[in-house]
Amino acid sequence: MKALVKAHAKKGIWMQDMPEPMVGINDVKIKIKKTAICGTDLHIYKWDEWSERTIKTPMIIGHEYVGIISEMGDGVKHFEVGDRVTGEGHIACGHCRNCRRGKLHVCENTIGVGVDRDGAFAEYLVIPADNVIKLDERISDEMAAIMDPFGNATHTALSFPVLGEDVLITGAGLIGSMATAICRFAGARNIVVSDISDYRLELAKKMGATMTINPAKGETIEGAIAELKMHGFDIGLEMSGSPQAFDSMISNMYNGSKIALLGILPNTTTVDWSKIIFKALTLKGIYGREMWETWYQMEQMLISGIDLSPIITHRMHIDDFQEGFDIMESGQCGKVILSWD
Ligand code: NAD
Ligand code: ZN
Repeated sequence: MKALVKAHAKKGIWMQDMPEPMVGINDVKIKIKKTAICGTDLHIYKWDEWSERTIKTPMIIGHEYVGIISEMGDGVKHFEVGDRVTGEGHIACGHCRNCRRGKLHVCENTIGVGVDRDGAFAEYLVIPADNVIKLDERISDEMAAIMDPFGNATHTALSFPVLGEDVLITGAGLIGSMATAICRFAGARNIVVSDISDYRLELAKKMGATMTINPAKGETIEGAIAELKMHGFDIGLEMSGSPQAFDSMISNMYNGSKIALLGILPNTTTVDWSKIIFKALTLKGIYGREMWETWYQMEQMLISGIDLSPIITHRMHIDDFQEGFDIMESGQCGKVILSWD
C-alpha cells in the first residue's frame, strides 16, 4: 500500500510502498479517506531534537484521519464493516492504575499513533477497535479528520466553565483558533486572542475572537483590558508554548481566575510565583483528550452547529503532500487536509 513514511533520519517525508498491516483479534482495519497534518507531523518532518529522540525510522506518520472500516478482528463486537470512523491518537494500556479508574488520557504507558507505531498517512490503518469512534452522519469527513486537534482545543477550552467569562487565549495557532470558536460557542463574554502572526490573528477573528492582540507590534493585553472595560481575565488558555505569552497571561489574570496550559513551554520558563499565589490562581496542565468525554463533547458541538470551517484553509490530494508540508512550515495556513480518495 501507499504510505507517507519517515524513512530517513533527516528533514523530509517520503511516499513509499509498505506492506498492508495485519489485523489483530481486537483491531479494526480502516481504509483512509482523508487525513490532516498536525504540528507533531511537522516536527517529525523537520526532524527536530524531539523527533530525533522519539521516532524510530521507518515510521508511517499521521494521526488525524477519517476512514471506513474494511476489516475487523474476531474479538470486535461493536462495529461493522462499512462504519465511518475517526480515532484517538493515544493508545492507552487499559491496565495501569489510571486506566483502571477511567482516566485513560493520563495512562502511564500511552503509545502515540504515527509516533511510536505506524500511523494514518497510508491507504490502511490498523488500530485497536477501542481507539475509534463511529461518526454521526451529520459530521462531515473534513471535520471528522480534524477531531484530534479539535479535541485538544475542547479539552483545554472546556476545562473550566466559560459561560459569561472573559477569556484570554495566547497563541492563535491551529488549536488556539479552534479554542476561540469553542469558547464563543460555549457562551464566553470577551475572548481576547494574542499571536505574533497577523495571518493567525485573522483566523482567530473568523473563529469568533472579540479582539486580537499582536505583541510583536507593540499591542498589549493591558490595552485590551482597558478598551473592553474588564478587570482582568477569568479564564486563560495558554496555547502558544511561549514563555513571554505565559508571563503576560499571568500578569493579566483577575484574582481567583483559572489557567489551562496546553502549549509546551520550555523547561527553562520562569514564572512570577507571587502573582500566582497572591492572585490565588488555579493552573491546570492539559494532555491530549479525555477518553471519551472530550469526544462526546466534540460530537455534540459539531452536530449542534459549531462553525470550524475557517480553520481548513488548504485541501489537496495526498500525492501533493510536499506542498502541504511546505505550507505548514510557512505558518501561513490553518489546517491542511490531504485526501486519499
Ligand atoms: P501552532 O504552532 O499552530 O500555534 C502556536 C501559535 O503560537 C502560533 O500561531 C504562533 O505564532 C503563536 N505564538 C508564538 N509566540 C507567541 C507569543 N509570544 N504570543 C502569542 N502567540 C505566540 O501550534 P498548535 O498545533 O496550535 O499547538 C499549540 C501548542 O500546544 C503547541 O505548543 C503544541 O506543541 C502544544 N500541544 C500540546 C498538546 C498537549 O497534549 N499538551 C497537544 C497538541 C499540541
Ligand atoms: Zn494505562
